[in-house]
Amino acid sequence: MFSSKMLEMGKHGSVIREIAEHSKMRKAEIGDDKVFDFSIGNPSIPCPEKFNEVLIDLIKNTDPVELHSYTAAQGDPVTRRILAKNIEKKYGFKQTDSLIYMTCGASSSLSIVFRALLEEDDEVIAFAPYFPEYKAFSENAGGILRVVGCNPETLYPNFEELKQAINHKTKAVIINSPTNPTGSVIPKETLEKIASTLTQASSELGTHIYIVADEPYREVVYDGVEVPYVPTIYPDTVVCNSYSKSLSVPGERIGYIAISPKSYMAEDFYYAICGAGRGMGYICAPSLLQRAIAICDTLPCDVSSYDKNRRLLYNSLTEIGYTCVLPQGAFYLFVKALEPDANAFAMKAREEELLLVPSDSFGIKGWVRIAYCTSYGQIEKSIPAFKKLYESYKVK
Ligand code: PLP
Repeated sequence: MFSSKMLEMGKHGSVIREIAEHSKMRKAEIGDDKVFDFSIGNPSIPCPEKFNEVLIDLIKNTDPVELHSYTAAQGDPVTRRILAKNIEKKYGFKQTDSLIYMTCGASSSLSIVFRALLEEDDEVIAFAPYFPEYKAFSENAGGILRVVGCNPETLYPNFEELKQAINHKTKAVIINSPTNPTGSVIPKETLEKIASTLTQASSELGTHIYIVADEPYREVVYDGVEVPYVPTIYPDTVVCNSYSKSLSVPGERIGYIAISPKSYMAEDFYYAICGAGRGMGYICAPSLLQRAIAICDTLPCDVSSYDKNRRLLYNSLTEIGYTCVLPQGAFYLFVKALEPDANAFAMKAREEELLLVPSDSFGIKGWVRIAYCTSYGQIEKSIPAFKKLYESYKVK
């Protein structure tokens, strides 16, 4: 009666949402301040004041019919021109505005890109641990997500596995840096190694493998760490950008796709993107937001409060004895579970009212993710609970 694929996808929603539901219920039972919800990656800092001012100014001073009209499906031409110029200024990379397509955030960027790239049963490679929605987005486009594992201790990609995973059906490899769920920034050398592996495989197979650079956390970085711009390393790249995290506006749904002008058949790729957006009924990204982004694209992302949270959490947990990956970006801390089964560990953590996301849905076993985009106070209060949890394993 219904699409069995969609029914399955809808019935088995994300683990994170299930935890969020549990959090709501528990907060109602015992009080907000007694539940330490570290499940969801919803920015906890307000958007820059300037962003609201720009919205108000646009609403007050633009012809309302024009402001709230459909834009071109690819997006407002002025916004696209400004974004292309900004890309050149920021990364020294010449981006053509005619290869930019405005979207409703990274999720729609990825969904459109996969729909544009994939024929039935084509494959997309993701490196574990990976953002779970990649599976939903690629499968919805008729593709198959192939997961390449990593060294379970260092979490570095397994290159032998990557080489074995590539075949004539491989259309794309997803690079997500800074990474959700680890907060790692992929170093330039690793990207170069991935690039040369793909170049070699493409030439051996006589195909073209694109890198899909999923970059919602590009601006959320600490200690001045640089995030290499993937199109400067690998020509066949399409960037999926979003302002959800960098400007703290995830509910507004705005982002863009930028196809590298150096990529193989870039113009046709763009036509396919337009076709995919059309077929999926996106029509256009929100008009008001597109105009706001033209002005706010270069606003700095103030990470100071995330950084404070990061330091407190990382230092406290490592002092207790937990093994953690030091995040260089995003707002997630990846922590080794104290038993091999991360689900069992997360359930045990719930006994201390700590809501953590087990790593299984990220394609790796034995870790949990802590989203520290929350208040400093919550983190401070949660430390004794983490200590109690740790000690409960040590007395066994
Ligand atoms: N990619 C990654 C790695 C994410 O973590 C998220 C959201 O959490 C997204 C994409 C989707 O972001 P958006 O709100 O822009 O759709």
